Amino acid sequence: AAHSGYRGRFAPSPTGPLHAGSLVAALASWLDARAHGGTWLVRIEDVDAPRCVPGADEEILGQLAACGLTPDEPPVWQSRRTALYQSALDKLVAQHRAYPCACSRKDIEEALRALGRERARNEELVYPGTCRDGLHGREARAWRFRVEPGVVEWHDRRLGAQRQDVASEVGDFVLKRADGLFAYQLAVVVDDADQGITHIVRGEDLADNTARQVLLQRALGFATPSYLHTPLVLGANGEKLSKQNGAQALDLSDPVAALRGAAQVLGLSVPAAASVDDWLRGAVAAWAATPRA
Ligand code: GLU
Repeated sequence: AAHSGYRGRFAPSPTGPLHAGSLVAALASWLDARAHGGTWLVRIEDVDAPRCVPGADEEILGQLAACGLTPDEPPVWQSRRTALYQSALDKLVAQHRAYPCACSRKDIEEALRALGRERARNEELVYPGTCRDGLHGREARAWRFRVEPGVVEWHDRRLGAQRQDVASEVGDFVLKRADGLFAYQLAVVVDDADQGITHIVRGEDLADNTARQVLLQRALGFATPSYLHTPLVLGANGEKLSKQNGAQALDLSDPVAALRGAAQVLGLSVPAAASVDDWLRGAVAAWAATPRA
């Protein structure tokens, strides 16, 4: 039972089963909620339908349950919540914070080349703003957020002070894609606000989305939650473990062993225990005793 206003969540994309890396984020978000006497939710982020694997949602929920991580409220599926995302987009359009864009990837590459601009380090294209002032008779494909100049500052409970110049490092980013699907950035911000999420605990690979999400929260009149990004599990090649680079599904023949692995990544020393629930009790105490920024 929840005794505080704390509401946290784990928000997996059902592109495959949980792996060792995603268990770290799941466990950390659960521990932080429990340590605060809060509520912990699970949201299935299946907004990017083409990347989702049928059945992966139920598989993830089963894996979480095997680890003793059961949500305090029924899970929600983003694919059933598109009306919420559309009304947020409508609001941004009415405020001239979002605009239609006719550019294909090729158009953007050509415009950047004409401007003599290099590609950003992360290989993402910084949108040059071609459609900011109208479509000039071209056909709308996507919808973009109008990013005003300026540095966005936010705080991470593990990483400390963070800042990003979204206008120059990211540019006007996509809210609704050319294929009609809503972008992760919009869906996650709308859902976190709609579900009353006060604390976000997730993997560090998502940290560089945060400034964009803070801008959307401000534009939509939502409070910015507190953030904590957890360490990543690196694969043998030194790259972040992900479903995309072939991470193995978690071996849950021994859930306590899987949880111990995740706790190690989080730097927690948890007393040995015979059952999942006993182990989790010790883990909550270890988490609560860890100082944070
Ligand atoms: N669905 C995202 C992912 O699995 C996580 C979103 C979030 O926690 O903000 O990478």
